Amino acid sequence: MMGLHPTDVKENFKEELNIVGQYLKKEKFCAIGETGMDLYWDRTFIEEQKNSLRAHINLAKKHNLPIVIHSRSSFDEIFEIIDDTIDDGLSGVFHCFGGTVQQAQKIISWGFKLGIGGVLTFKNSGLDKVIENISLNHIVLETDSPFLAPKPFRGKRNESAHLVYIAEKLAEIKNISIGEVSEITTQNAIELFKFKN
Ligand SMILES: [Zn+2]
Repeated sequence: MMGLHPTDVKENFKEELNIVGQYLKKEKFCAIGETGMDLYWDRTFIEEQKNSLRAHINLAKKHNLPIVIHSRSSFDEIFEIIDDTIDDGLSGVFHCFGGTVQQAQKIISWGFKLGIGGVLTFKNSGLDKVIENISLNHIVLETDSPFLAPKPFRGKRNESAHLVYIAEKLAEIKNISIGEVSEITTQNAIELFKFKN
């Protein structure tokens, strides 16, 4: 992916975005991101973060690539911007989704996917109850490595191979085989990142 992460958006974000734009011209990428907003630690650059997200959406449309959204304590702000910019050409994923059923449905209504990672395996995360209500057709698996390692590696360094623990948990929640989870979520990823083309 190519993008300017929301926690790195500062006064100079326009300069940084120029560099993002240059890379997009000279190399091949499968997505724009991570973009989005993160107001959990710091709200200082909230307006810059909003402008940066809008700029990433424009880049996604221009390059016909999906956007990967990082959202922390900022669902409402992000939703407003996507509602304002959504069109048939824009697709994407809310990575490490950890919201409510209502928020999930809003994301799905744009044709976006939900990225589900290790948090699903955490005791008392509540994410399992949300995912029970969401069709697998809208879900892609992810690790966010080296962060958010699933059970039984919680707190340790995460790696891509741990994806299987997330798939296992999803199979348990949906009461289907891990093979079915694998097939559907792989298809979703192929569709999301336009790998067929
Ligand atoms: Zn992120």
